Amino acid sequence: MLRILRRLAGASSVALLAVLAPTLSRGFEGAPGSAVSDSLFHQTRPLMGTEAEVFLYADTEPRALELFEVAFAEMERVEEALSTYRPTSELSRINREAGDHAVTTDPEVFGLIREALSFSARVDGAFDITVGPLVRAWGFFRGQGRRPTADELANARRRSGWEKVSLDARARTVRFLVPGVKLDMGGMGKGWALDRAGKILRGLGVEAALLSLGRSSYLALGAPPGTQGWLITLPDPLSPERILSRVRLRHRALSTSGSREKYFELDGRRYGHIIDPRSGVPATGGLIQVSVTGKTAVGSDMLSTALFVLGPEEGRPVLEEESSANALMVMEGVEGSRLIRLDWPWGMGR
Ligand code: AMP
Ligand code: MG
Repeated sequence: MLRILRRLAGASSVALLAVLAPTLSRGFEGAPGSAVSDSLFHQTRPLMGTEAEVFLYADTEPRALELFEVAFAEMERVEEALSTYRPTSELSRINREAGDHAVTTDPEVFGLIREALSFSARVDGAFDITVGPLVRAWGFFRGQGRRPTADELANARRRSGWEKVSLDARARTVRFLVPGVKLDMGGMGKGWALDRAGKILRGLGVEAALLSLGRSSYLALGAPPGTQGWLITLPDPLSPERILSRVRLRHRALSTSGSREKYFELDGRRYGHIIDPRSGVPATGGLIQVSVTGKTAVGSDMLSTALFVLGPEEGRPVLEEESSANALMVMEGVEGSRLIRLDWPWGMGR
């Protein structure tokens, strides 16, 4: 029996078509049928400056609609807490006040900042949520990108560095040791939103769902009935109509970081939005894209950003220390691209 995919209010017809007749460009294939009574439902909504997408199996359409409401509401809640584009967010409040005094924050945001700082220590500062001033200096905050002057860069470097954030776990406070530090969770917020929404769906009894934010982050709960996992096709960043890899996710997350989503060109060089916090300059290791799969979406999200900065040599030992993570790197090559698989178990190409 073939599963019926029902179109729900708000679902985009493009994505619907992709499921019914998978296209290489969209990167998701529907599941084959099986003998259970649940049907596959799907909805997309704009979120975090991109498109959030949820596929889930449910027994009735009203039930599916309820579940979508809860999942998207949770992602919106996370965006409202972490977005630096929203002055009302908890992160924006911390950015405004923590240079002056210790700011008490909620357990969720405190926990995330703590997790980010401890990850920074593990990757020697390649991942650093204090990149805010650098992201701004390079024009990637509300801008198209630009090269800062030497003064601007020096000034931004003085105001970033994960060791300039002081946390007090007992009081649950955040304090910047230098004024002007700005936290930016662009490298982990999507992953966190997916983990949170996934946890809520699981708590409501959903056994199989795939959640994604843009092309960059996926979280798979369970697997479509009768399959080994949700099949996601990663497009080749240099020719998106071609498949780079086919990944099967089951209780697992996938995150991709790339220089091509936001960059500018100057004097024949490409400057992307992922900054090497150690030099203050956009990462220049010759990487075009890094994909990571791991147990949690937030962990995979942080790791893909860090590996993009570290590159294959420095990245390999870091990856070996992370439990159960795999990475696929696309490097600039003499002709086209060169692929580096770091324990990447999934098939390549078609
Ligand atoms: P992602 O697409 O997950 O790799 O995240 C990239 C975003 O994270 C950028 O647009 C910045 O907002 C932020 N970012 C840039 N460089 C870094 C870095 N080295 N560590 C942490 N976040 C970063
Ligand atoms: Mg990331």
